[in-house]
Amino acid sequence: MMDSLKAHYPRCKFAGNIGLPDEALTTKRHDHPRYRADLLNKVLGRYKSDSTIVIGLTQADIGLDNFRNRPHSGIMGLAGGFGIGIAVFSSYRPHGYGQLFCVMLHEIGHTQGLRHCKNPHCIMQNGKGGNPFSKTNVFCDKCKDFMQARHWTL
Ligand SMILES: [Zn+2]
Ligand SMILES: [Zn+2]
Repeated sequence: MMDSLKAHYPRCKFAGNIGLPDEALTTKRHDHPRYRADLLNKVLGRYKSDSTIVIGLTQADIGLDNFRNRPHSGIMGLAGGFGIGIAVFSSYRPHGYGQLFCVMLHEIGHTQGLRHCKNPHCIMQNGKGGNPFSKTNVFCDKCKDFMQARHWTL
């Protein structure tokens, strides 16, 4: 994962392993452990400095409470906001390495300030609970320009 990421952004480095905090487990599901992505992003925020973005990868299932009209919904990734520089993503839902890498690029797009894109062929489209990464793995020209201006090679 790091080698593939470095091909797009050479100045990234592995910061180390961080344990999953029990406090981040949702209380709304008891059949299976799922972590609240918003709380995981809070933890990642402790590792962030002004000049860095921090991306966390976990194998655990992640989700959000009270999301999409359900008490708890599973998601593939979540950024701490647009241009905030913090995001978490999970290998639990994507099918295979290619999709997982797309989830990461999507969340990195948010960390750099990109919002969801209306282009149905763009990796920055709103997943709306589905998995758009089975159909696309590229940024549209507009989103690509935005990322390239921030020193991403795409
Ligand atoms: Zn998104
Ligand atoms: Zn786009």
